[in-house]
Amino acid sequence: MTTSSKVHQTVKLPSGRETTVPTGLFINNEWTTSSDSKTFSTVDPSTGEKLLDFSHATPEDVDTAVKYARKAFKTTWGKSVAATERAALLNKFADIMEANTDLLAELESWNSGKGVRIAREADVADSVACLRYYAGLADKVHGQTIDAFGKDKLIYTLHEPIGVCGQIIPWNYPMLMWAWKVGPALAAGCCVIMKPSELTPLTALKLCDLALEAGFPAGVIQTLPGLGATTGNAIASHMDIDKVAFTGSVVTGRRISVAAAQSNLKKVTLELGGKSPALVFNSADPQETAHWLALGIWFNSGQDCCAGSRLYVQSGIYDKVVEALVACGKASAIGKPSDEATSFGPLISAGQRDKVLGYIEDAKANGATIATGGGKWDQSNGFYVTPTVITDVKPDMKCVTEEIFGPVIVVSKFETEEEAIHLANDTTYGLAAAVFTNDAKQSMRVSGALEAGTVWVNSYALLHVQAPFGGFKQSGTGRELGTYGLEAYTQVKAVHHALDATM
Ligand code: NAD
Repeated sequence: MTTSSKVHQTVKLPSGRETTVPTGLFINNEWTTSSDSKTFSTVDPSTGEKLLDFSHATPEDVDTAVKYARKAFKTTWGKSVAATERAALLNKFADIMEANTDLLAELESWNSGKGVRIAREADVADSVACLRYYAGLADKVHGQTIDAFGKDKLIYTLHEPIGVCGQIIPWNYPMLMWAWKVGPALAAGCCVIMKPSELTPLTALKLCDLALEAGFPAGVIQTLPGLGATTGNAIASHMDIDKVAFTGSVVTGRRISVAAAQSNLKKVTLELGGKSPALVFNSADPQETAHWLALGIWFNSGQDCCAGSRLYVQSGIYDKVVEALVACGKASAIGKPSDEATSFGPLISAGQRDKVLGYIEDAKANGATIATGGGKWDQSNGFYVTPTVITDVKPDMKCVTEEIFGPVIVVSKFETEEEAIHLANDTTYGLAAAVFTNDAKQSMRVSGALEAGTVWVNSYALLHVQAPFGGFKQSGTGRELGTYGLEAYTQVKAVHHALDATM
């Protein structure tokens, strides 16, 4: 780490646009450097070259941010402000984000490596939609009346905001994961301490500039870039943070749960990894199915927690599905993130690329066949791995059992529905799954039997803010999105109101 006193820097983006971006900490509606002036660097995944230095938040900075957040929660936010006002501010924020779509998409693409068109049409658009959805829900948080006691007593429940919430997010969807966390938290009346991934802090910080423009009171949104072991751990173990919401790996989720339990027993919600299966039965259309499978594994270059990375195909349709999937892989639009045509960009880091290539080498060494892909993209020094299909795998191979978090799908053959369900559920994960069949009774049976928080039938990958998302088994606890996502930022109070004063 080096030191710096810069909180904004002027940069030239790949499009040639010059702009000023924040690189400091955002605390109490002000930009500041870290208390020890240390910084960390980010890298352009498409070239391997250094991008920018960012301030690194220390545990003391976390403490300062929490004090301001607590003050705001008690005075200018939380229960002190009408839900309709929170909704209005969130809607204004969403409008400002939408007006800055091109800039936000360019920043997201530059920092994370995803194609700029995808960043614009998916990441920014879905983040704006998420804020609007939760703005709409802000004034629809209702409790119950429990009038079971005649003239003696009335009980009613209030759904109150939890308080100051730490939010720790990963690098694969930096803006969307930000929106999934910040949207419901603010709608419910919570104040947030956001820690973006150290690999992709740019858009979370830029959004603070836009939050200032929207007019949120000081202390409501704080953003602290930094490393997991220091900034993240300081959030998870802080004694005055009421909840921590986390998206990331199982290993880190476990660490955060332990830190939360050993500090103030703060509430924890976790969105973790996956090794999601897709089951294709003989009655499915092979071409249509292959297109969904390709979207499921190669969207975001496979860096997706619900990527359909395990494919099981019934023997009667196996050859056709594999052939169509390989053709989709070969036709993927690999390219520079700044090209409009690019839908498949680099992986986030050299480490991630090497990890993915390691799984491919291990599969080869154990007798599997690389049906397509399997290597670096030869037209760039960036961290690209080509879309990869692996066949002839065995159930205990590492590429079948472990989350790769890259563009690699492993394919196996099955004969019966019972066998397919057993193979699909034979994992410690339970984030998502898919069934492809033209038999409606079969799709109902199989989707009912799959152990996963999201099941797609004859499709893959598309998520909607209206529907809950989260994991079974070790893929997480709690739900984001939908009304469930808002509930996760509230706590229930039962008020016992005596009506008759006599005992
Ligand atoms: P990661 O767990 O390494 O990091 C995620 C975040 O946690 C980062 O901000 C990091 O700085 C922080 N962190 C790391 N160590 C920490 C600690 N000890 N205490 C507190 N914070 C800490 O994950 P990643 O590599 O950024 O993301 C990839 C993983 O995320 C994959 O396993 C993927 O499946 C998962 N993921 C899950 C979902 C979901 O919704 N279920 C979505 C996206 C990614």
